[in-house]
Amino acid sequence: MQFYLNGFQARDPFISPARDGHATPADASERAVDVLIVGGGPTGLTLAAQLSAFPEITVELLEQTAEPLVLGKADGVSCRSMEMYEAFGFSEKILKEAYWVNETTFWRPDERRREHIVRSGRTQDVEDGLSEFPHVVLNQARVHDFLLEVMRNSASRLEPTYSRKLVSLIVDASSADEGAASASTHPVVARIERTDPGHVGEIETIRARYAVGCDGARSAVRQSIGRALHGDFANQAWGVMDVLAVTDFPDVRFKATILTANEGNALLIPREGGYLFRMYVEMDKLSDNERVGDRKITSDRLVAAAQRLLKPYTFDVKEVAWWSVYEIGQRITDGFDDVPEAEADRRRPRVFIAGDACHTHSPKAGLGMNTSVADAFNLGWKLAAVLRGAASWRLLKTYTSERRTGAQDLIDHDHEWSRMFSTPPKDPANPDAGGVDPAEFQRYFTEKLRHTAGVTTHYRPNLVVAESTHQHLATGFVQGMRFHSAPVIRYWDAKSIHLGHTVKADGRWRLFAFATPEGAAPGSPVRALCDFLDASPASPIRRYTPRGADVDAVIDVRAVLQQPHREVDSATIPPFLVPAKGRYGLQDYEKVFCVDPRAEDIFAIRGIDRARGCVVVVRPDQFVAAVLPLDAYDELAAFFDAFMLAPEAVPVP
Ligand SMILES: Cc1cc2nc3c(=O)[nH]c(=O)nc-3n(C[C@H](O)[C@H](O)[C@H](O)COP(=O)(O)OP(=O)(O)OC[C@H]3O[C@@H](n4cnc5c(N)ncnc54)[C@H](O)[C@@H]3O)c2cc1C
Repeated sequence: MQFYLNGFQARDPFISPARDGHATPADASERAVDVLIVGGGPTGLTLAAQLSAFPEITVELLEQTAEPLVLGKADGVSCRSMEMYEAFGFSEKILKEAYWVNETTFWRPDERRREHIVRSGRTQDVEDGLSEFPHVVLNQARVHDFLLEVMRNSASRLEPTYSRKLVSLIVDASSADEGAASASTHPVVARIERTDPGHVGEIETIRARYAVGCDGARSAVRQSIGRALHGDFANQAWGVMDVLAVTDFPDVRFKATILTANEGNALLIPREGGYLFRMYVEMDKLSDNERVGDRKITSDRLVAAAQRLLKPYTFDVKEVAWWSVYEIGQRITDGFDDVPEAEADRRRPRVFIAGDACHTHSPKAGLGMNTSVADAFNLGWKLAAVLRGAASWRLLKTYTSERRTGAQDLIDHDHEWSRMFSTPPKDPANPDAGGVDPAEFQRYFTEKLRHTAGVTTHYRPNLVVAESTHQHLATGFVQGMRFHSAPVIRYWDAKSIHLGHTVKADGRWRLFAFATPEGAAPGSPVRALCDFLDASPASPIRRYTPRGADVDAVIDVRAVLQQPHREVDSATIPPFLVPAKGRYGLQDYEKVFCVDPRAEDIFAIRGIDRARGCVVVVRPDQFVAAVLPLDAYDELAAFFDAFMLAPEAVPVP
């Protein structure tokens, strides 16, 4: 972490100085903001945390409840979400507090006594090298707390507005055509009802440039833009409970899948703190058109079902901290914004939906919260770039195209996974009766662990993902997939760090220049690239960095050398890689990295062509946008020219 750039200040460096004159939207009954976020679940909070990095953007987050969440629904935090939380600066807090899912065990009916269960296998939960982060489990409300802290500590000092319920939302039709003379700058009009004591029923109006519905599966924003969730329910009730219990079941501190002969199936997930654990328990089959609420299932019934299916083990519940019943439904919307497909080329989206408002999954696969926060991370930097005049509004169109495909993949996986989990295991004595083969169940689970880790998302080429012409130069940094971090040594202070951790949630682009054997010495391809970026009128840094801003304010260039750091002569490092910044022109010593001799060589494990090197362009949401030759200046410039706007050409967003 870097601080004191513009002068020493005796304060907590994690709390940004409040921006002068910036105010959270006033308590007026009519107000205007740049972005209105509806819903303070994990999706809305992630988006707000991302936008709070830009104090010049006014944001209001409305939440209908009176206060922050205390007990959560989701608890699984995937490796990929942890990588994202690292960018927001709180991954280490989760690492300390959470349960780490190291291994999963599999239980099935004992063939000698089918009413009893026996362990049939175990597997490592995250394959080696998949991510530098583990898969962890933590109360969703704690994740909310960390995101709220990011917002509170930002220069924006952003806080949600509680006790506000969205009643209606419309988009001023005059803004439909891009460039229309009558287009309003704040075309979204939302009517809000207050529910706090002393103001119940009072109606407020908020006008916004953009609105984002993060308001969950029953999203009012989704309905207001005429979108619907499509899909079906599996007519199967499940119960979930977080319990403190005494049991002789030996795998109570492992994630465990349990298939029983006649008592339904279950999933046990240990929780943070060492004692608490969660159980998902298969309950009643529902008839067509029946909803789970009709069954009036109680927590006592959940406990009794768990006691039956854990036999021969005992299960003595001392406290139920939280419980719920639900039915499985995999549903997805046809679009994630308010613009019909046919008008996409001429109409700027003004309203977006994200998270459960767009897609719902079964909770057991642990995908809901993770997919939802990934939606928000994808959208946040794009909205910020457009609102700050740094990118064309066409960038916003990639949100729907990227996230919808990913959500559909996850739903297909979840469908298969839920089907298997709701099917009784095969009885070897009666194979014709059907059922799922426990070995096949374990095989499927193990095969799909990459999905669960959240690292399989792969965006197709578009405005911000290049065609894969040069992918062979770095086969381990796949274009359209998240930047797969690897260890390196920071040159100037020999600190061992993860290269991916230099990508913060600050809206900036990163160019990682992987050097040829000559390093950054005069005459080397990296030196020539630096010269181009520093001086050429075609350089995206020269074109898109606002006058007076630090050289890395928009595009942050870093170099990775093949040699161990002690073998690199500091005289060979160009000034461009030790840039002068801030009001004193202090030098930034965190732009050059070397291979880490105590870890795996980043060039080897990410398949980087040692002879030719390459440039890896990484988006603000940590996805690889392009892999290019070190001397592909025209392609590099053309990539950014396709969507970025020069500072003087800033349009009204
Ligand atoms: C029992 C259960 C267990 C789960 N376990 C997991 C898990 O292990 N891992 C996982 O990844 N996911 C899990 N999920 C799914 C996960 O909880 C959701 O996917 C996630 O919460 C979605 O986040 P969201 O912010 O999109 O929506 P939500 O969390 O539903 O948040 C929406 C917010 O919008 C507010 N809101 C709604 N309407 C309005 C309105 N009109 N005006 C103002 N505010 C409004 C709501 O009060 C709420 O705070 C689970 C879900 C359930 C039910």
